[in-house]
Amino acid sequence: MLKLDFHPTGRHFLQIPGPSPVPDRILRAMSYPTIDHRGPEFGALGLKVLDGIKAIFKTAQPVVIYPSSGTGAWEAALCNTLSPGDTVLMFETGHFATLWKKMAENLGLKPEFLGLPGIEGWRRGVQADMIEARLREDTQHTIKAVCVVHNETSTGVTSDIAAVRRAIDAAGHPALFLVDTISGLASADYRHDEWGVDVTVSGSQKGLMLPPGISFNAVSQKAIQASKDAKLPRAFWAWDEIIEMNKGGYWPYTPNTNLLYGLSEALEMIGDEGLEQVFARHQRLAAACRAAVNAWGLEIQCADPAVYSPVLTGVMTPEGVDADAVRKTIYEHFDMSLGTGLGKLKGRMFRIGHLGDCNDLTLMATLTGCEMGLKLSGVKVAGSGVLAAMDYLTSHTAAPALKAAA
Ligand code: PLP
Repeated sequence: MLKLDFHPTGRHFLQIPGPSPVPDRILRAMSYPTIDHRGPEFGALGLKVLDGIKAIFKTAQPVVIYPSSGTGAWEAALCNTLSPGDTVLMFETGHFATLWKKMAENLGLKPEFLGLPGIEGWRRGVQADMIEARLREDTQHTIKAVCVVHNETSTGVTSDIAAVRRAIDAAGHPALFLVDTISGLASADYRHDEWGVDVTVSGSQKGLMLPPGISFNAVSQKAIQASKDAKLPRAFWAWDEIIEMNKGGYWPYTPNTNLLYGLSEALEMIGDEGLEQVFARHQRLAAACRAAVNAWGLEIQCADPAVYSPVLTGVMTPEGVDADAVRKTIYEHFDMSLGTGLGKLKGRMFRIGHLGDCNDLTLMATLTGCEMGLKLSGVKVAGSGVLAAMDYLTSHTAAPALKAAA
């Protein structure tokens, strides 16, 4: 039989950029008995999470919750708003943008994939000026939607969504605006309403600190209007019936009750800390992580400091060093999982996740594991990243999270 809890001592360090570690408080909440999903208790839970999640997306509009991974919510965003053969403008920011584009093709859409030459788009994120230029050319308005990834998990680049909104407006183009913030939500600042996003796609297993299995579509009135004419086939993903039943806190099918208990707990935890404090904590930990990478003398995958991700840091290994071999050494010696290089970056980088249930000591232990693993792998580092990160954290102190008894 497969042994799932085989870690000999201490806790496994799950430092991939999602799924992120699930706090005990959430694990306990998910262990409550499963209840009748048509009963009164469930309706109250449903209303609580449907309302609470709006604050995380910064929206007053409906948020559809699906019992699926993020990929399902990608599909839902496209099939609810678009028709076969529609042109959609997407931007190549990395592996996940590429997968979303492939999905658009599979659904019978015509994606146009804008990008910088070579690997540059994977280092700098969305270029709003390129989107604006393309939309200005499209005088017939054949482009029906602009789709971008906010936090590109494969690279550690967080694109400027407000700038894309400004670009669409500057071009005077009526295209819908669809954004994937699967790995950004509840870690990186995100504003569905203020940024005029029509569909925001997200998932549970990153900043929300839940296991995989819940995904989201935050929708605008314009998106709901578009869904009335959209002709792509849809059944399970169709918003209308779900939004209607959600008014009472219910779903047209059996929702994942125990994950919703977890979501309710996560919303309370984030509310207790404060969403803006959550963002500030992520920014601070990310900066400390980058201080470590710089001290090692290794290159950060994101080449533009304005779009460094607060969620994860992509670390390039020196030419000739297989990043996956370094990851394997770290896993075997220190029971720590780091993210692999995806797509064009296979073997060239590893990704350090510093999201969700993460604090100063989680990060310090993670960086210690990385530094020891780099040395064990024979990578010559320029200096101690651990010391650099400690320096950063102690010279940029956060307000204490706890108060000792007097
Ligand atoms: N988009 C981004 C940015 C992601 O990080 C991921 C998964 O990591 C996905 C889409 C796909 O989501 P899922 O694996 O939950 O289906």
